[in-house]
Amino acid sequence: MIRIRGLTKRFGDTTVLDAIDLDIEAGERVVVIGPSGTGKSTLLRCLNFLDRPEAGSIAIGDVEVDAARASKKDILALRRATSFVFQNYALFANKTAKENIMEALVIVQGQPRQQAEQRALDVLAETGLAEKADSYPAALSGGQQQRVGIGRAMAIGADLMMFDEPTSALDPEWVGEVLDLMRRVAERRQTMLIVTHEMQFAREIADRILFMEGGRIVEDGPPAQILDAPRDARLKQFLRRVA
Ligand code: ADP
Ligand code: MG
Repeated sequence: MIRIRGLTKRFGDTTVLDAIDLDIEAGERVVVIGPSGTGKSTLLRCLNFLDRPEAGSIAIGDVEVDAARASKKDILALRRATSFVFQNYALFANKTAKENIMEALVIVQGQPRQQAEQRALDVLAETGLAEKADSYPAALSGGQQQRVGIGRAMAIGADLMMFDEPTSALDPEWVGEVLDLMRRVAERRQTMLIVTHEMQFAREIADRILFMEGGRIVEDGPPAQILDAPRDARLKQFLRRVA
């Protein structure tokens, strides 16, 4: 369902993604691990052109884009095929929980406001935040804000949901409720690409784990292989450090 070939990103002279090839099946939950600065966020951000890749191709569902000559229309199509959960939630501070979720539906998907509002309320109920619909982000805990961020991504109903360290900015007390919501999303066989340092969660949720280092996918396999029988020396060293 997702087919990435030769995806390449440079910042100045530095090659941050070095011709990445990656296939993801519909419904697969793929976790990306690796040291900091290794290109994990950039990989996710290039898939919806938050960062613009220099070369390679991206196919998600029916959308196929050649990075080197992507048009505005291509980029919009990729953004519609994907949703993104950010480390720092990236909610609009001047919009309520409900309005934050509606925004993507109205702006990106062109839904009528009334339909978007109903969808937002349904999703807030699913995330256990029905009573917070009219609250502004500042009145919500970190965990609740990130649940709104995940609700926003759920509402879009995208082919691919991406999560970039969704619990890294949270106080420890809020991590559990966010991981619980992600488990519920995963149970629906939603295709997910997740960067996380929560190794126990990765083991539990992932069909596959990718270990990235230096802009490349160095090892790719089921959790039992990657976490219990790592082959690459850099992966072994990484696991010793995060254990
Ligand atoms: P990770 O998510 O694995 O920690 P990133 O994808 O954020 O790594 O970053 C990979 C590399 O790209 C790092 O060396 C980082 O400094 C560099 N980088 C990321 N974004 C930018 C940017 N906007 N401009 C210049 N360099 C960047
Ligand atoms: Mg990152």
